[in-house]
Amino acid sequence: MQGFILRVTKVKDEDLIVNILTQSHLYTLYRFYGARHSTINLGYKIDFEIEYQTGYLPKLRHITHLGFPWLRDLQKHMLWQRFIRLLYDHLREFEEVDSFYFGMLERLAKKLTRQEPRRAFIEEYVRLLEFEGRLHSDMHCFICDLKVQNPTLARAFLPAHTHCVPKEPFDDKKLLYLFRYKDTQFFDEEEIERLWQTLQEGF
Ligand SMILES: [Zn+2]
Repeated sequence: MQGFILRVTKVKDEDLIVNILTQSHLYTLYRFYGARHSTINLGYKIDFEIEYQTGYLPKLRHITHLGFPWLRDLQKHMLWQRFIRLLYDHLREFEEVDSFYFGMLERLAKKLTRQEPRRAFIEEYVRLLEFEGRLHSDMHCFICDLKVQNPTLARAFLPAHTHCVPKEPFDDKKLLYLFRYKDTQFFDEEEIERLWQTLQEGF
């Protein structure tokens, strides 16, 4: 089956615990001598098999790395790993997961070939918020519950007045376009960086 490596933890000299996201599960698997193999790296998409054994963590076997054309782009690779870490923190409690999350990484891996990475992550993150029913397109401040024009955004892109959360505001027309169409085209470089910083506060 195929999956994305969301976390790699060294346990003994060369052994690893590897968390892998598939269409339906977040697996925790054991890999002997894993540290020696370059196929196991945070964010990699792999083809693999699971060998179950009673009393122990299931084993990760027969791994093939399914590369992306942009993996040699250092900046894209770094931001991808950053996003993957945030996703792992978000999903870590679960063993069974909706196929939405695997599908999101599939879309992102394709988008990164041609799109500016922070824009791609912001757009897919908005899609995630909507999927989870946490996207606040009604533009009410989450602190005082009153309507807000040109809000700032707190963690999880929650709108707020700049006097309730002292941060720079965003143009609400641009925000509404992003929230509706998952499209960042109207934001300039500086705004994209602020959105990306907010995203990194945690899903
Ligand atoms: Zn407020």
